[in-house]
Amino acid sequence: MSDLPENYRALLTFIRELYGQSGFIPLHEPRFRGNEKRYLVDAIDSTYVSSVGEYVNRFEADMRELTGARYAIATANGTLALHMSLILAGVRDGDEVITQPLSFVATCNAIAYQRAHPVFVDVDRDTMSLSPEALRAFLEANGERRDGGCYNRSTGRRIAAVVVMHSFGLPGRIEALVEICREWNTVLVEDAAESIGSLVGNRHTGTFGLLGAFSFNGNKTVTCGGGGCIVTDDEELGRLGKHLTTTAKVPHAWEFFHDQIGFNYRLPNLNAALACAQLEQLSEMLADKRDTAGRYRRFCREHGISFVDERPGTTSNFWLNAILTGGREERDAFLEESNGTGVMTRPVWTLMHRLPAFVEAQRGPLENAEWLESRVVNIPSSVRPA
Ligand SMILES: *Cc1c(COP(=O)(O)O)cnc(C)c1O
Repeated sequence: MSDLPENYRALLTFIRELYGQSGFIPLHEPRFRGNEKRYLVDAIDSTYVSSVGEYVNRFEADMRELTGARYAIATANGTLALHMSLILAGVRDGDEVITQPLSFVATCNAIAYQRAHPVFVDVDRDTMSLSPEALRAFLEANGERRDGGCYNRSTGRRIAAVVVMHSFGLPGRIEALVEICREWNTVLVEDAAESIGSLVGNRHTGTFGLLGAFSFNGNKTVTCGGGGCIVTDDEELGRLGKHLTTTAKVPHAWEFFHDQIGFNYRLPNLNAALACAQLEQLSEMLADKRDTAGRYRRFCREHGISFVDERPGTTSNFWLNAILTGGREERDAFLEESNGTGVMTRPVWTLMHRLPAFVEAQRGPLENAEWLESRVVNIPSSVRPA
């Protein structure tokens, strides 16, 4: 495209130099540089390949240690971690769940699995995550506190939960959101699928809400092929989460008794083995990603490109670095040129209120999400080749 400004062309050259590759550069590819193969073979040799096994226990212990949460429950993927988090948060048929329209579809799918209704509230431009101001404004206009809960005056439904997503690893304004949810008698759940290693102050994302859900999908910072994890400090929910994700079987030496409808949401030991090996390398991966973000930041500053940075007082894992182009035309010209020349870039997801399943959902003003939608482009962010 001839109308692509020179600085964006220079950025593509910079990306090629950064990754030292003349071939295709993916947005985010996994690196297996540690004990992955050793642990995988060990898991096979143990014959515990399914959902019971030492690596599952170890993975949960590792996640408790990493996040500081008291309970960690491994699941087969991040979507199921979110779904179970909503179940544990008490979201039921006919409830409403407030969330941001700028997210991966899994956030809304998990709400829909509970036959609950998503309600869309705007994000902040800098964090791309749920805006406390927008949430407060929505609740002041539509919310009603009664019977110890929060209700939507325009629909009469209960607002059972609020789900914030830490977009691309950038921590949202989580402390303010916690406070608003407390004031309004509703529960905060964190979709921390993208934010392993991301902190607010010294505290790990995913541990501010009642529950937090992580993903270990192949494109995430830490991957085990497919996997997820729920974290919580609530003892009852921690126990119930483990129980419900393991078919609600009452422990017994030989008897099969399930005390309610449970789920087979367990993470296989094979995947957990990979996850354990990957978590051992988390700090090196985070350091590499921070270094890459620093290089992008400097390049963008020197070339008049807007780089989306972490907010002061927070630590992003820089899962996917993002730039803000000047608008839809410039965005599309950059996407066209980069993808056409083998440098993978992506726009942000189509906003959730535009998807057929969620067009009917109630929503507040979504100016920031729409502003970001026409500007954000994610650029290659893998840990760099050795
Ligand atoms: C990846 C992701 C999920 C889902 O995780 P899976 O492990 O792919 O099921 C959920 N929410 C967000 C925001 C994600 O990026």
